[in-house]
Amino acid sequence: MSNQIKRIAVFTSGGDAPGMNAALRAVVRASIFYNIEVFGIYRGYEGMIDGDFEQLDVRSVANILQRGGTVLKSARSDEFRTKEGRLKAYENLKKHNIDGLIAIGGDGSFTGLHKLYEEYKIPGICVPGTIDNDIAGTDYTIGYDTATNTAVEAIDKIRDTALSHNRLFFIEVMGRDSGYIAINSGIAGGAVAIIIPEQETSIDELVEKINRGADKRKTSSLVVVAEGGKSGSAMEIAEKVNEKSSYFETKVTILGHLQRGGSPTYFDRVLASKMGIAAVEFLNDGKTDSMVGIVNNKMVCNKFDDIMNQPHAIDEESLRIAKILSI
Ligand code: ATP
Repeated sequence: MSNQIKRIAVFTSGGDAPGMNAALRAVVRASIFYNIEVFGIYRGYEGMIDGDFEQLDVRSVANILQRGGTVLKSARSDEFRTKEGRLKAYENLKKHNIDGLIAIGGDGSFTGLHKLYEEYKIPGICVPGTIDNDIAGTDYTIGYDTATNTAVEAIDKIRDTALSHNRLFFIEVMGRDSGYIAINSGIAGGAVAIIIPEQETSIDELVEKINRGADKRKTSSLVVVAEGGKSGSAMEIAEKVNEKSSYFETKVTILGHLQRGGSPTYFDRVLASKMGIAAVEFLNDGKTDSMVGIVNNKMVCNKFDDIMNQPHAIDEESLRIAKILSI
């Protein structure tokens, strides 16, 4: 370890995700382990612009490992998207003698870090914290496992009602551009169909599948829909299906923000702990403009240009499994 960095600042940015606190704890403790001073910045890039910095120690991150959300708060900052905003942020970093940054957030947060590196040469590493699992260069992002478990728990509960009343439920889960939560909560929850942004869905085929199930004395069905798909929202798809099939009474449930909160699963806590430590080690080793990832259970360091604008494709195997199970 070359010990190049003297003072790190860490912040959480974009949508909150369960496990961000565990990542923060790991960053703080790894920094102190390597004799690096560590500051927390509140409210992401907003706080960087406003100078909302606080020095952290080992005790500052006690008892946060198991908590959802982020104790550093998060924000989306339009001002940081401007050159003037980034100059203000840079001046605050300089004032606090920060020579390394760790952002815990999604691809937008990583882009912000990249801009700071391009314009002011501040070394930065991103830790992927977002429930959508929509970033290339890592098999998993922090928060995705917890959010998917939350979705599965909700689907199981909805199934009780679907079965009791012979209903067809459309359950909308998060994932604006990515069907990861949908595909895996759909497989785990036994959905008859899973609608994801990565695939075109034919309403006629969907209706045929639902009707086929009803003909075989299936008394209820669940369809999992990722928000933001090309075929429309769960509500719109349900309306289209209703026009063409009258087997079931149709209901729609939008899980929404309850998927973001909650105590992180063991998987997300361990992932966040490993990624937080890796981020400090990569930074201290002279790496920059990069994001930590986990690939085949190994920590990797991805350069911005290698992974940005690349899709994190859903694996063909998951699609195949979902198809076989929903006959
Ligand atoms: P999530 O996946 O949960 O939405 P995210 O990190 O992608 O997380 P964004 O809102 O896209 O969330 O980005 C977080 C913040 O990063 C933005 O509010 C903005 O301040 C900064 N940011 C994003 N894109 C850019 C950009 N192109 N230039 C400068 N800053 C940016």
